Amino acid sequence: MFSVDSVAKNMSDFNNQKIVVTGATRGIGRAITTSFLEQGATVIGIYGGNDAAAEAFRAGCGDAAQRLHLFKCDVSDYAAVEAFYAEIESRFDTIDVLINNAGIRRDAVLAMMKEDEWRRVIDINLTGGYTMSKFAVQLMVKQKYGRIIFITSPMAHLGFVGQANYAASKAGQIGMMKSLSKETAKRKITVNCVSPGFIATELLDDLDTEQVKAYKRLVPARRFGKPEEVADAVLFLAGSKASYINGAVLEITGGL
Ligand code: NAP
Repeated sequence: MFSVDSVAKNMSDFNNQKIVVTGATRGIGRAITTSFLEQGATVIGIYGGNDAAAEAFRAGCGDAAQRLHLFKCDVSDYAAVEAFYAEIESRFDTIDVLINNAGIRRDAVLAMMKEDEWRRVIDINLTGGYTMSKFAVQLMVKQKYGRIIFITSPMAHLGFVGQANYAASKAGQIGMMKSLSKETAKRKITVNCVSPGFIATELLDDLDTEQVKAYKRLVPARRFGKPEEVADAVLFLAGSKASYINGAVLEITGGL
């Protein structure tokens, strides 16, 4: 599937790097994983439970599938994440980049929000980022290098009707990123956020035609973004040209 220019691949920052991407097999995570594979990286991709999507993605990767290692792992399950990293350490020794991308929505106005809708969103979007980052830092400090990127959302500061859980989880990611970036800076581990606006993925499949039209009117660019446009920003922050960017939030919103 990939037409990788071998000269460009050899010059890539990511050739021979080991990259962990959560939510790697659909939507934004799939675009991020594809871009890293195109740049010669080994990608260790986590997905939540959709085996069919994971297999379809792998099948489309052509020769690059040899550098794609997929794990089914619930990022909200502390013991499962700990076991995942134990296997990663034994097989790969360390990792260079972590992309905390896995995320869900369970929308409801707060007064009607079920406890499970609140907890599941916080557990996956926020606590999953904590656990994934905790064990990643423990590996990265060994080599005194690393890049951690959270995929947050402008909902963190805008808020939206029905998204108190999601907005809180995304605001929490930014606070976590700010603190962690200060803890790890002297070890040459940078920690940043990419904040996509409306991006055309299955996460927005529940919007009806009128909602899509209304949301597009909110965007100065008058269109939803593509997952690849988010991936470009992620690869920039993960690369050598972003070595002095730490604790930042990079918005990819078409001007929202
Ligand atoms: P998506 O198309 O729904 O894909 C979500 C991915 O996360 C899937 O690979 C899914 O795995 C994985 N996942 C879900 N729960 C998981 C769990 N408990 N453990 C491990 N993996 C899990 O979503 P997306 O639109 O690409 O969104 C990706 C990220 O971008 C999210 O954090 C989202 O909040 C953020 N974001 C999206 C938008 C947007 O407009 N799309 C805007 C701003 C921010 P399975 O395939 O196994 O279900």
